[in-house]
Amino acid sequence: MLSGALIIDDDCSVQLLGRMLLRQHGYQVETASSFGELVRQPDLLNVELILLDLGLGEFTSLDILEYLYDLRLNASILLISNYTEETAAHALAAGEAKGLKMLGFLSKSKLLTGLTTFLGPLKKAPKAPTSVELAKAIREQQLFLAFQPQISLQQGTQQGQVIGVEALVRWQDPQRGVLYPDSFIPLAEQNDLMLPLTWYVIELAMKQQAQWLSQGWDLDVSINIPAAFIQAEGVLDAFDQLTQAHHAVLSKITLELTETAGVECLGYASYVLKALRQRGCKLALDDFGTGHSSLTQLYRLPFSELKIDRSFVSLIDQDKEALVITESIVDLGKRLGLTVVAEGIETSAQFTRLVEAGCTVGQGYGIAHPLTTDAFNTWLREYSPSAP
Ligand code: C2E
Ligand code: MG
Ligand code: MG
Repeated sequence: MLSGALIIDDDCSVQLLGRMLLRQHGYQVETASSFGELVRQPDLLNVELILLDLGLGEFTSLDILEYLYDLRLNASILLISNYTEETAAHALAAGEAKGLKMLGFLSKSKLLTGLTTFLGPLKKAPKAPTSVELAKAIREQQLFLAFQPQISLQQGTQQGQVIGVEALVRWQDPQRGVLYPDSFIPLAEQNDLMLPLTWYVIELAMKQQAQWLSQGWDLDVSINIPAAFIQAEGVLDAFDQLTQAHHAVLSKITLELTETAGVECLGYASYVLKALRQRGCKLALDDFGTGHSSLTQLYRLPFSELKIDRSFVSLIDQDKEALVITESIVDLGKRLGLTVVAEGIETSAQFTRLVEAGCTVGQGYGIAHPLTTDAFNTWLREYSPSAP
């Protein structure tokens, strides 16, 4: 369905030019030349976008904004005129003060070149994906992995060396472009799609590991797995089959668990996780310090790694409490014989605090963003260890 736009201006060249430009942007366009026309045909105002002339006969834009406000209109309003910016700024502020959706001000002489700038952000957000689309995406292999490098923080010659990557799932949707986990993991959880999604992710990660090994790159690959995976029927057999099919080196695979809080039976989870560890996999407790990851899980389940949640790491260079909590988590992890990984390192000050605290491994935008395979391969070839 086309979006509606209304041009309120008595200048016929603005009407014609505006109509042409808005049509090019997919709008169905109506015009009005006077305030009276609006009062007689209030339906004209049922649109998403209004281009409003600052002066219309004896009425000012303030009169019209007042009228639009009284009608409780939801349209976005772009002011157009040949008045000074000062006058326009005054009208804009008046509209905003009333809570109207003011897009800004555009001089009539700049209509041709400037309109697109205002319309870009208006483009409707694409509809949220549905579970049917997600199921199809998994079947049709539209999911892919991005890899975020993890480097050693340990003092000495190994500092900065790339140890491995965390595999993070993305969805290449033909209509919407690349979608990130926040926009489809909850959908998968609510629609029993977490298992097919996880198996697919594990398979992609194992294939990628094999490819890197064949290139001579011995990288750890961390994979996020949900609680549903641990509880799945036949999980160990299915995992063994995948391992064999892809010749996966399990000693270089870490399974990251976040929501073990959702595991109904910690005893059973412990059995499955121990069996996975016996096969050589490492196990990480992700987002440690948040509501999802608790000390009970750390105590009862066979973890080898602790990942400090980004919410602490992001504050350690500004906030004393966050630093103390982070130092304590590092200390706790080390005393339990675990590798401690900091996620979300963005600044060199955060990097330094973590090194000083004795944290073992780090990842974050300050080191590298999650990268597609090709981008990661290029990054690794060009990478030389240094603090962010
Ligand atoms: P996570 O496992 O804690 O992954 C870290 C998230 O933090 C990633 O977001 C990553 O892109 C982001 N991140 C890394 N460094 C920085 C930084 O310096 N600053 C900021 N602001 N963010 C940073 P992403 O990829 O959007 O993933 C979000 C969450 O979705 C993951 O959190 C994980 O819980 C879940 N997820 C991702 N991939 C998978 C998957 O394959 N399976 C499952 N079950 N969950 C996944
Ligand atoms: Mg993770
Ligand atoms: Mg995390």
